[in-house]
Amino acid sequence: MAVSFYNFSRLNSPELRREALELFSKIMEDNAFIDGHFNRLFEEEFAKHQQAKHCLLVANGTDALEISLEALEVGVGDRVGIPGITFHATAEAVLNRGAEPVLIDVDPMTGLMSPDSLKRILKQVYLKAIIPVHIYGMPAPIAELEQICLPRHISIIEDGAQAHGTILADGRPAGSSNNLTTFSFYPTKNLGAFGDAGAILTQDDELAKKINSLRNHGRNSGPNGQGPEFFGRNSRCDHFQAAILHLKLRHLDAQNQRRREIAASYLQQLQKLFPEIGLPAQEFLSTSSWHLFPILLRNKEQKMHLKEYLDQHKIGNALFYERSLGNERPLVDCPGEGAKALQFADRVLCLPIHPTMTDEEIIEVVNTIKEGLCYIQ
Ligand SMILES: *Cc1c(COP(=O)(O)O)cnc(C)c1O
Repeated sequence: MAVSFYNFSRLNSPELRREALELFSKIMEDNAFIDGHFNRLFEEEFAKHQQAKHCLLVANGTDALEISLEALEVGVGDRVGIPGITFHATAEAVLNRGAEPVLIDVDPMTGLMSPDSLKRILKQVYLKAIIPVHIYGMPAPIAELEQICLPRHISIIEDGAQAHGTILADGRPAGSSNNLTTFSFYPTKNLGAFGDAGAILTQDDELAKKINSLRNHGRNSGPNGQGPEFFGRNSRCDHFQAAILHLKLRHLDAQNQRRREIAASYLQQLQKLFPEIGLPAQEFLSTSSWHLFPILLRNKEQKMHLKEYLDQHKIGNALFYERSLGNERPLVDCPGEGAKALQFADRVLCLPIHPTMTDEEIIEVVNTIKEGLCYIQ
């Protein structure tokens, strides 16, 4: 039995498509394509869901990071700490601002930014900001990082592109801290649009006002009637995407709950395969959004053999992330630390965990991994 890595035909049910068409039809009747009713409504709903004061929709998750850096006045001549394990958009946002990324190493078991590595780096260079990533949906150690950063006036931007529903160590959702938190609504994320969209969450009225202007050509940044104080860019989210996000948000908690059930089932069954298989997110069973289900093999060779076996048996899997950031070509000369990220990237492989997976499919994945491991040895 084949098991796919994602399954959009199941996720976007006939009912959801019918509801979407109704809303689209209404938007076309009203000719309200940008900044419509659903933009405001979804911003309110998502802010509430993640316990933030403000939610500002933007065009995508990378823009959300870039605009956050811009709002905090991070740019040319500034250094920004980023973890070695993340999607490379985290680094792109820093480079696109003209700032210099500095690699912070990760926890060898989870791939999350390591506070110890950050402390070591700060003995050598000053960072204007850091971007911890809630990678795979696991909560980054925000309280520890804040302890290091706040006394030194280092800004924190949390990359929550994979963290819709993630619970931080203080028991509150990603987006509820005093840092800027960015989200992506790329279709594969836990909350995905029917195209591109992103958001920035903040508790700060001033930053929210600035971001609101930056995302829309600097509009409303100056005194009434006298034009903008500063120019921005176009990073608006269109009305169709906001409407879809409004429809899909209602299902997010139930879908995350299903992801958690699948994770619990995988953890229980795969634990028996230790030490062949390490389970990075084990301690985060009830706090991860389970955007992805990463497993750690002994080394790269074993990982590639298992991947090949799963591919042959049509079990969806993905190399997130195949290379640590320090091994990405545009970042080879990037300063910082990355030995543990390198090892983690060599060992990690992700299994399917979409919320529409059936119990039979979970068993099929586990059984194929067991067979694969016997075959490899
Ligand atoms: C998806 C993702 C992004 C980028 O989001 P886009 O909407 O594709 O621009 C950034 N960071 C992480 C960790 C992501 O997973």
